[in-house]
Amino acid sequence: MKFRYVYITAIILGALFAPLLPWYYLALLVVVFLSILFFACINLSWNFFIPITCKAFTDEKMVALSFDDGPAMYTENILDTLKQNEVPATFFCIGKNITGKERTLARINDEGHIIGNHTYSHALWFDMGSAAKMMADMKDMNTLVKKTIGRKPLLFRPPYGVINPNLAAAIKGRKYTPIGWNIRSFDTRIKDKQKLLSRITGQLKPGSIILLHDSMEITAAILPELIKQIKSNGYKIVRLDKMLNINAYA
Ligand SMILES: [Zn+2]
Repeated sequence: MKFRYVYITAIILGALFAPLLPWYYLALLVVVFLSILFFACINLSWNFFIPITCKAFTDEKMVALSFDDGPAMYTENILDTLKQNEVPATFFCIGKNITGKERTLARINDEGHIIGNHTYSHALWFDMGSAAKMMADMKDMNTLVKKTIGRKPLLFRPPYGVINPNLAAAIKGRKYTPIGWNIRSFDTRIKDKQKLLSRITGQLKPGSIILLHDSMEITAAILPELIKQIKSNGYKIVRLDKMLNINAYA
């Protein structure tokens, strides 16, 4: 909706002022318009192209863990830690990573965690595709999950945290529930364990969705301490679908 308003406003302003103003004012208008679009694409919480759930609206001290990009090198290790601590999580898996790791995918489901769709390809150029191409990619992922656990994911996390009008259309077309986050751990960049821990725990709020990656060694390494610190701050760790009161599968 917001996208439509900005688009229409830009066209009206352009049409009104094009005959009156020098070209560089119009160029500035185009730059401002494109800048808004760019930042809207990389800020899921703006809800610019489509509403995206980035947190739960609650006063209850609870948070949800989410792991992107698996099944990966550290998924099993992370599953062990979650099991030992009786903590649920959501894994936004990549379809092409499932081949050879079907048992890990099944384990995620068997141990009471949720599997979400994070596309089949997670390709760098994913966001350049048409809505139809994106839908086909997302469907390929769901088909693989259905083959393994007998259910199709409804929760979708955009790769690279990027959204655009075509992806918004693909999400709507397939009736996915798009899920973002409000605590980005930066576990793919931060090398220092203490820094990573305090970055996450320093942002805890009721209803937070925490973004982590099961492809990262540091994430597997800090997880036991992270769970301990979240709990000692008085927070419960709950499953995303329960915290949001939504269906995780079709
Ligand atoms: Zn990803």
